[in-house]
Amino acid sequence: MNPSDIDGYERPQTRPLKIYAIDPMLGRAAGRELSLAIENERLAPGPQGERLEVVDYDGAHKRFYPPLNLDSPDVLMRGGMEPSESDPRFHQQMVYAVAMRTLENFDRALGRRLNLSRGKGAPRLRLFPHAFYGANAFYDRKLHAVVFGYFRADPENPGRNIPNQTIFTCLSHDIIAHEVTHAIVDRLRPFFLEPSNEDVLAFHEGFSDIVALFQKFSFRDLVSEQLQQSHTDIRSRSLLVELATQFGYATGAGKPLRTAIDNPDPRAYQTQFEPHTRGSILVSAVFDAFFGTYERRTRDLIRIATGGTGRLPDGDLLPDLVDRVATEAAKTAQQLLSMCIRAFDYLPPVDITFGDYLRALVTADYELSPNDEWGTRAALIEAFRVRGVYASQVASLAEESLLWEDASPDFPPIEDIDSTVLLREFVTAATRVSRERPRRAESSLSGRKSKYDDESDASETPVDSVDSNTTNTVSATTSNRKIFQELQRYAVTYRRQLSLQDGLPIQVAGFHTSFRVAPSGQLLIEFVVEFVQTQRSDEDSLGGLPLRGGTTVVAAANGTVRYVIAKPLPHPGLDPAAQAAATARIERQKRYVQLCDATDLSEAYGLGGNPRERMLRRMNLRSLHEGF
Ligand SMILES: [Zn+2]
Repeated sequence: MNPSDIDGYERPQTRPLKIYAIDPMLGRAAGRELSLAIENERLAPGPQGERLEVVDYDGAHKRFYPPLNLDSPDVLMRGGMEPSESDPRFHQQMVYAVAMRTLENFDRALGRRLNLSRGKGAPRLRLFPHAFYGANAFYDRKLHAVVFGYFRADPENPGRNIPNQTIFTCLSHDIIAHEVTHAIVDRLRPFFLEPSNEDVLAFHEGFSDIVALFQKFSFRDLVSEQLQQSHTDIRSRSLLVELATQFGYATGAGKPLRTAIDNPDPRAYQTQFEPHTRGSILVSAVFDAFFGTYERRTRDLIRIATGGTGRLPDGDLLPDLVDRVATEAAKTAQQLLSMCIRAFDYLPPVDITFGDYLRALVTADYELSPNDEWGTRAALIEAFRVRGVYASQVASLAEESLLWEDASPDFPPIEDIDSTVLLREFVTAATRVSRERPRRAESSLSGRKSKYDDESDASETPVDSVDSNTTNTVSATTSNRKIFQELQRYAVTYRRQLSLQDGLPIQVAGFHTSFRVAPSGQLLIEFVVEFVQTQRSDEDSLGGLPLRGGTTVVAAANGTVRYVIAKPLPHPGLDPAAQAAATARIERQKRYVQLCDATDLSEAYGLGGNPRERMLRRMNLRSLHEGF
């Protein structure tokens, strides 16, 4: 029993947990160890909560380490375990805290509580901080787990590590956030692990880096310290824009694993196909827009501080100035991160390209704040352009043409769904959101809360528990099943309008409601449905991957369809332009298989296994992650 149940104390909304903000080898200076305020959920030893579970099995030594009990008074009184490289219980705390923070960022941006359950057998995402010996960490869909390796630093060239020092990937904020993001993306868009074109896996990698990097910008002390050092120049190569520094040095690379800064080169997008390298084009584009927005937001501060010259004096800057500038940097980072996550609701369900992502980014942000006060959208479009990334089927790079086209006003509304069922969905989601939203801002102001408020948690259905995907169908409640049936019926009736192919089964691959508050204070309620069609093929030119088509429908609360984002399979029901685009898409998939075949030596020598399944093997993040 929790002490608060006995004594009637209000249960705190958050729980302080310490982490290494940057990799432990980089010293103990201010801001490098910090305390995160994490949602105070009920925890069993592990920690094991509602959505995450830390399992500390050491695969190399074949044994379990004792699980951390975060509710032990001895731990609570210290505000969590103290950072320590040698105590596995701190490692457990670190992976839990950073994974929770990552989840919270998605919850907030998507306006719903993400559900990571894969049914009864795997209700939580599992985190294995010491899974194996090796310089790697990855998300494994079959295990429904993120596994972290540990290894010895390079004996010759260990950078700032000690030669042969043990390096734990589970102590790197960047690696944890990156891997957990892979797991979340797989939950949101399960078909994005299928390498159907050269951008798909690169998107998985780039997006995971984007989340990890932006998350660091919410660590205020670290941001202040770095901005003081760089004289507010956010583009300088600082700890903030470097990813997995310790890992990079320890593996003998002599530099951080990756960075958010590049020299934009339009040829890179035409010539770089390794997923991490290609993904970093996306990372740099987004960060370019971030830096530009930050500079516009802080220009007035710098002018005020320098009497209008804009030239900062030598030596240390006034702490007041650094503090204000750091606040702007953190706000801008949060804005961009939310924007990058929100775009998910506007993505096609299959076969993503960077161009699609740009369109989704622009549309999602336009929906929420049409006037682009700080020029962020314009900066994004420009940053993609200088890197040679364009959206297909778009006439110009003007914002209006990048927005997904509005559905026509007479598009059949999704009104067949029993409104009471939908209402229940909304109410459940609203309860979640209203519980979450005001937490940080108002918790100190709100009156005493009845303890029953918390007890109601257990009975709530997670909002997107109706999500399902190819590998696992989540056990749906009666109301969810009903929604699925209605949506299925809708899709069959209007398959022509939805660009879905006649005679091929339609899968409702996801359905959820989302609640967002626009900067204007207006509440934006939407529901998003993803329909997917699959055509299996033995054709050798596809390497075992099926052909998929699909459509994302974004609708307003009253059922009016706002956007229909389609990637159809080629079929005679399409208009000629859509048919040509669909055929071109399949041709591109085949060309990509050829490209992989030409560069994959293990397959060339027949070392991989059945060549008919070679593309399926390439969707394995473990092999992809030679150095995460
Ligand atoms: Zn990765």
